[in-house]
Amino acid sequence: MTVPVCSPTLTGNEWKYVKECLDSNWISSKGRFVSEFEQEFADYLQVRYGVSTTSGTTAIHLALESLGIGKGDEVIVPSFTMVGSVFPIIYCGAKPVLVDSELETWNMDVSKIEEKITPKTKAILPVHIYGHPCDMKTIMEIAEDHGLYIIEDAAEAHGAEYRGKKAGSFGDIGCFSFYANKIITTGEGGMMVTDDKKICERAQMLKNMAYIEKRRFLHYSLGFNYRMTNMQAAVGLAQLDKIDEFVEARRRNAKLYNEMLAAVDGLVLPPEKNWAKNVYWMYSILIEKNKFGAGRNELMEKLAKDGIETRPFFVPMNKQPFLKKRGLFRNETYPIAEKLGQQGVNLPSSSSLTKDEITLVCKSIRENHNR
Ligand SMILES: *Cc1c(COP(=O)(O)O)cnc(C)c1O
Repeated sequence: MTVPVCSPTLTGNEWKYVKECLDSNWISSKGRFVSEFEQEFADYLQVRYGVSTTSGTTAIHLALESLGIGKGDEVIVPSFTMVGSVFPIIYCGAKPVLVDSELETWNMDVSKIEEKITPKTKAILPVHIYGHPCDMKTIMEIAEDHGLYIIEDAAEAHGAEYRGKKAGSFGDIGCFSFYANKIITTGEGGMMVTDDKKICERAQMLKNMAYIEKRRFLHYSLGFNYRMTNMQAAVGLAQLDKIDEFVEARRRNAKLYNEMLAAVDGLVLPPEKNWAKNVYWMYSILIEKNKFGAGRNELMEKLAKDGIETRPFFVPMNKQPFLKKRGLFRNETYPIAEKLGQQGVNLPSSSSLTKDEITLVCKSIRENHNR
C-alpha cells in the first residue's frame, strides 16, 4: 500500500459536466461553465465577483496588474510561502519585501509588517499557510492606516475562516489555486475574487488579451491570455458541489492525526487559533530532532520506506537563488521561516484519506521516534 501526500477526489459530476462540454463543442473559454463557476465560487465566499484564470500564480499576477502595481512598487509578503506568491511580484516589475513568520500559526507575523512599510509599499500579500487563516483584522487595520491594498493568497485555504468569514473575502482581491492537490481542483486553474466591480472588469479585460468591446483588435493595455477553459470550469463546478464535504473530511482527518500523535514527544502539531477555522490543506507537523530522536529528513526517508509519501515544508524566499541573483535579501535572515523550512513536513492529507491510512502513518511515525 502506498499513501499519496495529496490526491484529488473526482467522484461527483466531473465526468457528466466535462462530457457536456465535449458533446456541445464548447471546449475553450466560452460556454456556460466558466461564468457559472465564477459566480458560484464567489457566492460560496460571499463576495460579488470571481475572475477565473489558468492557475493560482496567474490569479495573483492578474490581481497585481489589475491594481496597477508595477515597477518601483513594493509588495509585502511572508518569507515562508510557496514561490507562486512571489513570482508574480517579479513578473510585474515590483519588489517583494519579506516578513518573518510567527511560531503560533506559521503565518506572516503581523507585528513585523509595519517596520517594512516604505513610501514605495503598495500592497500587503498575506498567505493563509497550509489552510490556517491569517490574523486579518490586524492586517486590514495596518493596510487602512497606510493606504495599502490587500491581496490575499488563499491558494491553500478554500473554505478556511477567520472569525466566521471566509479566507479570500477580506482583501481588495483574494486569489485561489485549483491545482490537482488543492482543496478543490480544475486540473490546473485559479481564480481571483473581489467585491469591486471596476477591479473585476479590468481583470476580465486584461486576462482576455486586453480585448475591448468598442473596437475588436484594438488594444489599450498589455493583456494576457489567462483564460480558463469551459472543461476546467466544468470540473470546478462539480468539485464545488462537494467543497463542504472535502473541508469536513480534512478537519476530521486532522482530528484523528492529532489524537494519534498527541503523545509523541518532539512533534509540533498544526495550529488552530480559537478565532480560526483551519481547513488543513496539508496536515503538517514540525519535528524537533533532539526530542523526537530523528530529524525531519530522516523521518521522511523512513516513511517513504513504508510507502508513505510526504513533502518537506517550503524553502523560505530569503533562501531562493533566483531572488539572490537579483540582489535581494542577501544579508537578511528570517529565523522562524527558516526553522519552519527545516523542521516541517506535510503528511498525507487527501480528502479521501481513510482512518486505516492515518493509523498506518502514525504507527510509522511512532516507530521512528527516539531511534
Ligand atoms: C499552490 C499555490 C500557489 C500557486 O498556485 P498554482 O495554481 O500552482 O499556480 C500560490 N500560492 C500558494 C500559497 C500556493 O500554495
